[in-house]
Amino acid sequence: MSKHQYAMVMDLNKCIGCQTCAVGCKKQWTHRDGAGYMYWNNVETHPGKGYPRNWHSIGGGFDSRRNLRPSPLPPKEDYGEAYEYDYRQRLFGGKNKPVMPHKKPTYGANWEEDVGGMNAGNPYFFYLPRICNHCTHPACVEACPRKAIYKREEDGIVVIDQERCNGYRYCIKSCPYKKIYFNEVAGKSEKCIFCYPRLEKGNVNACAAQCPGRIRFVGLLDDAESPISKLVNDWQVALGLFPEKGTHPNVYYVPPFNPPKDGQAGRSLLDDPRLPLDYLIYLFGKKVVAAIEFLHRELRRTQQGEKSEVLQLLIGRSDQVRYRIVPDALRMDAPEDVRRQLDAHTTGPALTIMGTPSTIGHLPSGQESRSCGNTATGGCRSCNLASQRLVT
Ligand code: SF4
Ligand code: SF4
Repeated sequence: MSKHQYAMVMDLNKCIGCQTCAVGCKKQWTHRDGAGYMYWNNVETHPGKGYPRNWHSIGGGFDSRRNLRPSPLPPKEDYGEAYEYDYRQRLFGGKNKPVMPHKKPTYGANWEEDVGGMNAGNPYFFYLPRICNHCTHPACVEACPRKAIYKREEDGIVVIDQERCNGYRYCIKSCPYKKIYFNEVAGKSEKCIFCYPRLEKGNVNACAAQCPGRIRFVGLLDDAESPISKLVNDWQVALGLFPEKGTHPNVYYVPPFNPPKDGQAGRSLLDDPRLPLDYLIYLFGKKVVAAIEFLHRELRRTQQGEKSEVLQLLIGRSDQVRYRIVPDALRMDAPEDVRRQLDAHTTGPALTIMGTPSTIGHLPSGQESRSCGNTATGGCRSCNLASQRLVT
């Protein structure tokens, strides 16, 4: 059990599907060999098959007796390829043909962009951004026979020790959210690291920092002052995805307000919600009904001139409102040896981690290795980037 738990809330009412988060994450963490097809942060249109295709219906997680129930390994085609585009002919060849991928795409991240429910009389869709949920009971950790995956003691972030990973991929089969990816070049599994090198420096996750919709809130679940605690614990308007999978996800979603359908002459059909409630229950469980009702009540109050604290918070005007990053507090709770290493990084010269085992993404006390994961081509990119202070 971790002493604290970093978590993220995403307000689905504000996501515009611009994919800036996906690009920000890719540029920071997966812009390298073997990771071309990976989106540690992806944004998919719902209803839809998602990325990888059908991830939400193929299995993973735990059954009611807490036994792992692994899915088949998703085939490569279900992720889509990292397509190369022939910009050269367009920019320098004078051919003026459209820019095309190197082969005909058959699937990819957000393949169903804006298609959604395909209901001619009542068109509807919404975007669902996804990262690893840094679960409280991570199926990936339980599935790994090498104990290469672990939850960081002081903040609950789930990472893979690349030195221990043998590329068996049991973790991929067991994760119900399919948020672990296999790097064929490195022969290892990789995943979202919740931008811990940024958090340790007091900076928010790259996906959140880049989000023009300001949909993301970040903080500790157990910090009463954090926006996360207010939205998840106090107001209970943010819910985990597929709670029945048994991993207790720590990425939470404020569900779409679910406006009424439009009837004849554009008149609103007040008691007939546009998004089928069953679909929202499918994604977030039955608690979604109470969350939506509460949000509607708060909305009505503001329409009558009253103030709503929860809606004010969800507007999220400033970084100070949306994020509460507390590196110093967490450092105090890190294992003694790790704390010494972190202190050395803070007080010493710029980090020089490249090519050496990371001292940031540590293992729990007592284990020998000190690798954070991500030792793919060129050393640990996560820590390289942290060492270059590419944190904004
Ligand atoms: S979402 Fe999947 S990869 Fe992430 S911690 Fe949970 S089980 Fe592990
Ligand atoms: S950057 Fe923000 S608004 Fe854009 S797709 Fe990502 S989560 Fe949605």
